[in-house]
Amino acid sequence: MTARERCTSCNATLAEEGSTRFPCPSCAHQVSRCYRCREQSIGYTCPKCGFQGP
Ligand SMILES: [Zn+2]
Ligand SMILES: [Zn+2]
Repeated sequence: MTARERCTSCNATLAEEGSTRFPCPSCAHQVSRCYRCREQSIGYTCPKCGFQGP
């Protein structure tokens, strides 16, 4: 069983394709963004440390 990951920006369930995952530059917590947020360059906020990025 795999837990569904959610977009850090809009909380949408991530599709396998087009989504992106990367470690927070500040605390290395994994941040996930969906295809839509990536396309629109919507910023994210790290849920752990509150770091905001582009
Ligand atoms: Zn999103
Ligand atoms: Zn962080």
